[in-house]
Formats: sequence, structure tokens, C-alpha cells
Amino acid sequence: MVALPLSALFGGLQVDHLELTSDGVTLTARSAAGGAICPQCGKVSARVHSSYQRFPHDRSLLDLPVRLQLHVRRFRCATLACPVVTFAERFGTFLQPSAQRTDRLQQALLQFGLALGGAAGARISRSLQMVASRDTLLRLVRRLPSDSVATPRVLGVDDFALRRGTRYGTILLDLERRCVVDLLPERSAASFEAWLREHPGVEIIARDRGREYVRGATAGAPTALQVADRFHLLLNMREALERVLERAHAALRIRLLKTPPPPSSESLPAVPAVRARRRSPAEAVMRDTRRERRLDRYETIRELHRQGKSKSQIARELGVSAWLVRRSVAAEQFPERVPKAQRPTILTPFEPLLHEHWLAGERTTPALWRAIVAAGYTGSIHTVRHWVQRRRQEPAAHTHPAYRAKYTVEPEQVAARAAAQQRLPGARQLVWLLMKRPDKLSEEEQQQLAVLVQEPSVASAYRLGQRFLRLVRQQELEELDGWIADCHTNRVRDLSNFATGLQQDDAAVRAALTLPWSSGQVEGQITRLKLVKRQMYGRASFDLLRQRVLHAA
Ligand SMILES: [Zn+2]
Repeated sequence: MVALPLSALFGGLQVDHLELTSDGVTLTARSAAGGAICPQCGKVSARVHSSYQRFPHDRSLLDLPVRLQLHVRRFRCATLACPVVTFAERFGTFLQPSAQRTDRLQQALLQFGLALGGAAGARISRSLQMVASRDTLLRLVRRLPSDSVATPRVLGVDDFALRRGTRYGTILLDLERRCVVDLLPERSAASFEAWLREHPGVEIIARDRGREYVRGATAGAPTALQVADRFHLLLNMREALERVLERAHAALRIRLLKTPPPPSSESLPAVPAVRARRRSPAEAVMRDTRRERRLDRYETIRELHRQGKSKSQIARELGVSAWLVRRSVAAEQFPERVPKAQRPTILTPFEPLLHEHWLAGERTTPALWRAIVAAGYTGSIHTVRHWVQRRRQEPAAHTHPAYRAKYTVEPEQVAARAAAQQRLPGARQLVWLLMKRPDKLSEEEQQQLAVLVQEPSVASAYRLGQRFLRLVRQQELEELDGWIADCHTNRVRDLSNFATGLQQDDAAVRAALTLPWSSGQVEGQITRLKLVKRQMYGRASFDLLRQRVLHAA
């Protein structure tokens, strides 16, 4: 072991004195060099002209703030022809001229700013006794070079929400080096085109099949090969299947009516609407976006609360109710949405009375309404009409006799219909069953799927969809033409439309099935970006977001 002088810790400065007070550490230091180099002519001078003191902050030492009392000499330049008469000595990479902080302190603060943003970064730096304001941190982040990443050969492009539902930006990735290359404040063809023109040399562009990026890529890098993104191909496929299910929904409900409800009753709603964790790309595609939005808000609230914001402050900043903030902060885990129970209405207290009149044969809305108004009901007649409609099992008096039978509904049928409506989840939840790999289906899911494919359109869509998923996953280009042809002959409208879309983007789709590039990794980067964005919620300025995403390693 070699004992090092204190100067080793302070950029080679000679430490004359170290004073420990309740305010921290003060170091009196000076340069040990005999002379200094003139910044103009580069000659060494040893002729001291004068001296002064500087008091820069340094990184903390054992949680004590450190301040230097630095003796700085001013030299007279020895070169006759040099325009510089006197100059102050410099301290290399330890301290820049006229800086109030040492370089290493600036570096630490910069890292806090990049990782945590201004407010949280300032709080952490204060707790580590390296006090800096939020603005200082943000200034350091902003000052970083903004174009440090080299133009990629293989570029991935996707959009992300700057303000969900209102403003979108574009994220550009180097798919070979797996890093973010740039962020653009919009997702227009023009901005993408402009970026490509400023960064020539991109050879392959992996993009979704949205028109903006296709146009931008074609105009900005006409020679680049465009690849349809496989992740988005699956996403589009899911959307097509969802539309098939939506169209078939009424027919499926009727089918369920005919099959008696299983003894354990609620078999279909057991379809998992949400997955805790994503597994395969197909499953990832299934994520329910509405849930994601709520989760996003939930985590934002929790994060802001961790950062020390008050609940009312959070509610104001995010524009959400104080109730939601309280609930989110108190929750042990993300509260999943449960189906709503029937809430009591203004009509509820009068329902027994209505029912009495109903059983007595009173079927007309105005008469029923008058009956309960007499008993104190203050609601509207429309509410009563709804109630009547839900219960009416006989056709109205004015229905033509020829149709009376058709419109007569048996009471059991009314009940069964209501049950079936509850038992069949929406297309958004059901589509999941069609996307999953058959060998990954649980027994329960297999039963649910069996119900769905009883409907011929769903059965065709399911077969075609599964073939497409395999075709994309295993990149079976030779299968594509046959698959597209089958889509058209099967006459399932939504899949036929989807196939037509693929044909219109033929070259890029073929490239997707031959080249390895896919912007699947974009999702991961967008998740990271969301985290950064969340910390900046409320005052996220685009350039700051960009700096933090580009420079945070
Ligand atoms: Zn000089």
C-alpha cells in the first residue's frame, strides 16, 4: 500500500489546509506548478503578475459539502509579440475557467439530471450535499451535444404519445446497435423525410404500415429498402380479427342463448382481459390499451407521490380527481377494473310498486308513471319507459296481428338474453383467444374458443389468422401468396381487406418475411421513454425529453 498525498484527490492541486466546520469541508489549495502556459501563444511563463481567490464547489466528501478556496495566479506572458499581456492559470479538466463547480461535480449533477430529471435530480443531489437547483440540472442536460449519434444503417421508426390522444412524436432507432438515434416532435411524413435528408446513408427502414412513414421514407431515402415491421403486421392482423368478432358478436350471443349456461355460470367472462406480463409478440399485441392508459396514470401518480408531491398537487398537475390520487397512492397494487354492479337509480325504490302494477296487467308507460308519481317518484317518464321496455314480453297493442307472434318474447328468453349479454365479453377481449398459440390455450380457453368458432366467419378468420401468425413468426415468405389468395376466396371481409393492404405494401411485407429486422425492440425503448416522460409530466418540453432519452445510457 502506498500512502497518497491529499493532492491526489484534488486534481494534483497542492492542498495547504483542510478545515472542517459545521458547514462542511473547506480546502485551501493552489497549483503546485512553477509556471503556466499562455492560452494564446502556448509559451510557459513563470512571471507572476498578481493573484486572486476562487471558491468553486466540489463533490461532497463523506456526505459533507466541499468548497475550495483556490489561490489563482495571474501571469505575465513572456512572449513580446503575444497580444496577451496577462493570463490566469488554468486547472485542466479539474475546473474550467470561471466555473462555479468542478468538472466532476458538474458530471455528477448531469447524471442526476439525465436519470431523474430536474426536480427529482435536484432533490437527490441536495440529499448528497451537492446542492444544485432544478434549473441548473436541466441546463446541464440541455447543454449536451444534441446530435452525437451516428446515422444508422438499419433504422427503425415508430410513433409514441407525447400527450396521449393529442400529440404524437416519432422515435428513431438504430436497430443494429439497439439504441435511440433521435426523437422528432411530430409523426408527419414531412418531419421524417427531413430527418432522412439530413442523415443520408440509411439503407434499411423498418416501419409500420401507416401512410405517413411510408411517404416520409420514400421521399427522404428513396434508395433505402423499406421493411414492414413484423410487430405491426401482427397488430394489424389483430385489428382485423377484432372486427370479424365485432361483426359476429350478435350471432355469437344468439348461439350462446341456445346453449344453456354452464352450471358454474360465468364461464366466458373468465377470459383474461389483461395479462400481468407480456410473453410472446402475439400476446404483447393483446395488451388492452385502455388498461394501459389507466396503468400509465396510476404509475405516474405513484411516481409523483414518491417524488414528494402532495396529493392535491398531483391531482392538479395531472388533471385527475383527488379521489383517484388518494386511491392510487393507497393501493397495494394496480387496481384492475372489475365489472360494474347494478347501481341503484332514482327508480329503484319504486320498482316493487311498478312490478305490482305490471303483474296486475298495467303495461303502458304513462299509466305506470302516474302510479309511481302518486307514490312520490320525482324522476322522468323516460326512466319508466326504459324499465317497461326491459320487461315487455308482449308486442305493443298496435302491432299488426301478423307480427304478434314474432315479437312475443317468452320471459325465459328475456332472462336468458340478459344472461348471454353478460356472458359474452367484447371483441377486444375475445380476440385474444384467436391470437394465442393453440398449444398454449388452457382447457377453459379451448372451450371458449370452441364456442367462438361455431360461427363460420369466426372459424375461417381463426384458421387464416393462425396461419398468418405462423407465417410471420417463422418468416415463411413462400406461404404468403397462397395465404393472400385464401383470404380473398374465403370472403371474410375484414381479412380480405387486410390482405389487400398487404398487397399494396408488397415489397415491404416481403422484406419483413425475409430480413431479420423488426422494430420489436422499439417497444422496449418506448417503455423506457415513457418512464422518462412520466418523471417530466406536466412540464415536459420536447427538447429536454429528447436529450434525456438520447443521453441516458
Ligand atoms: Zn502569450
